[in-house]
Amino acid sequence: MAISQPWNIVFTIGFVVYVTTRGKFATLTKHNQPINRRVGLHDRALLAGMVVTSLLFPVIYLLTPLFSFADYKLPVWVHSGGVVLMVFGLWLFWRSHVDLGLNWSATLETRRGHELVRHGVYRRVRHPMYAAIWLFSFAQALLLDNWLAGWAVVMTFCVMYFVRLPNEEAMMLSTFGKAYEDYMSETGRLFPFAK
Ligand code: SAH
Repeated sequence: MAISQPWNIVFTIGFVVYVTTRGKFATLTKHNQPINRRVGLHDRALLAGMVVTSLLFPVIYLLTPLFSFADYKLPVWVHSGGVVLMVFGLWLFWRSHVDLGLNWSATLETRRGHELVRHGVYRRVRHPMYAAIWLFSFAQALLLDNWLAGWAVVMTFCVMYFVRLPNEEAMMLSTFGKAYEDYMSETGRLFPFAK
């Protein structure tokens, strides 16, 4: 089974941390009352795509031989790069969840008492959680030597990111007005100082 390979064990540890972090904050925010939901059909489809490619595909690859037709072999230095991306991605994922607190939600919505977060990792970057998901998705691609288990999530998240971002920023602008406009002028999307 693929899970017994050393790099796959490293990925599995990171994967458990990733899923546990999300689970912990999903529990914390489950009583949130949304007041403005903008979840269209394409948003639901993309979320479902993320669940399949970021959760189901790695599990199938690690625990069954079903995806072995799409296997390949990457050198050690590529895997090591994957570990670096994974560690930084996990830290940023956890930190952005902590900073967003009760304002986080998996979908596009604002909640009762929603506050505009501008501190912590949100001080210079507007989308640190998406930056973390980019990092973890690329780590998955560099660590799992399989086209489906590794790269499908990068493609799904790429579509999700470019579809969701303009809608999310429009929602934040209509909720917070000038405050979000000012925030946008002071921050980069994924990188500090890069608008
Ligand atoms: N795009 C952000 C947050 C992702 S979670 C990031 O990548 O870090 C998505 C939810 O977070 C959205 O539905 C929105 O309600 C909320 N959100 C996004 N930016 C926020 C901010 N600066 N302050 C408070 N809530 C925010």
